[in-house]
Amino acid sequence: MKVLVINCGSSSLKYQVLEMETEELLCKGLVERIGIDGSVINHVKSGMDKWVKETPMKNHTEAKGHVLEALVNPERGIAKSMKEISAVGHRVVHAGEKYANSVLITDEVIEVLKECSELAPLHNPANLQGIAACRELMPDTPMVAVFDTAFHQTMPPESYIYGLPYEYYEKYAVRRYGFHGTSHKYVAMRATKMLGKDMADLKLITCHLGNGASIAAVKNGKVFDTSMGFTPVAGLVMGTRCGDIDPAILAFVAAKEDKSFADMDKVINKQSGVYGLSGVSSDFRDVEAAADEGNERAKIALKVYAHRVKAYIGAYIAEMNGCDAIIFTAGLAENGKTMRKAICENMDSLGIVLCDERNDVRGKEALISAVSSDVKILLIPTNEELMIAKDTYEIVGAL
Ligand code: ADP
Repeated sequence: MKVLVINCGSSSLKYQVLEMETEELLCKGLVERIGIDGSVINHVKSGMDKWVKETPMKNHTEAKGHVLEALVNPERGIAKSMKEISAVGHRVVHAGEKYANSVLITDEVIEVLKECSELAPLHNPANLQGIAACRELMPDTPMVAVFDTAFHQTMPPESYIYGLPYEYYEKYAVRRYGFHGTSHKYVAMRATKMLGKDMADLKLITCHLGNGASIAAVKNGKVFDTSMGFTPVAGLVMGTRCGDIDPAILAFVAAKEDKSFADMDKVINKQSGVYGLSGVSSDFRDVEAAADEGNERAKIALKVYAHRVKAYIGAYIAEMNGCDAIIFTAGLAENGKTMRKAICENMDSLGIVLCDERNDVRGKEALISAVSSDVKILLIPTNEELMIAKDTYEIVGAL
């Protein structure tokens, strides 16, 4: 069965087609600058060179049209007709408290997702546009929505309720939701396989450290706690997001700098994190290079970053009363051995010991803890698209 995976942003569209029986990637692509000048599609059929075409695309439906054309192209396509695509899996960021699992997309599901748009104003409307464009062009193909928030829906109230007046939760659904759920679930499943255990018997800490970053405590197969909150700005220090801060800082700085809350929202989302700290870049490679050259602010940024991850690991060990494995995934954690080392340093009293030799690895599944380490440390490249395709395959296969 061929499954098309779609991940729609406000002006971009990422896609992949997988052959599910073998989990083989047939092709992938990226459409950028949808609705603005310079719209462009990049398409790669596995084993072939990248094909790039710049052509105006006014909206997601037009972009989707170009994707479908590429998929059935005799030369670089992967199907003779779109009928060969049996299902489509859509990444959707926010499902509020409505869905704890992926669901078949129906009119009712779309209504629910529209209601959730208020909670993810930058993401859900774009995801919905992608779904609408697909349904218009492939009206008979079953589609599945896979949510970033779903895996975290198992959290107990003590993890998701904030210490605010309870009525804000009741009236406005203000609570911790957590994001990157598809990635946390994927690496937790892979770790379980690597450890040869049952997820129900494991306590895992999954660290998704990319440009956006979050940690999850996965206890007996269910998320017990996670670092992102009501929005993806909470928790760890990130590329440009501040992570946890004293909330009173917002009103204090807003008054000092004559800024509105909307301005401050921009500051904490776009001008903070390692970018704001270092003044160099949001990309860890640039910040590490600057630190190596002696840039003090870059050094502080990296120290603050590692410190925050370490603090969350400690907290989650306490919350779960132990931990069998720590998993590193996403851009920084998959590639940055220096950061992995900085995070794991001086944690031997918690049974966490990294092996320098094993840690000298990037971008592939590996055990990187020392033999003496009670807690296994694993490197597992994430694959959110495969996870979306698997859920889609399972749901549509059962129809
Ligand atoms: P996202 O999907 O959130 O945009 P990724 O998971 O692709 O993020 O991670 C991107 C980040 O990974 C970049 O900001 C970069 O800082 C970091 N990264 C990539 N390669 C390396 C490397 N070799 N060393 C350190 N950091 C890296």
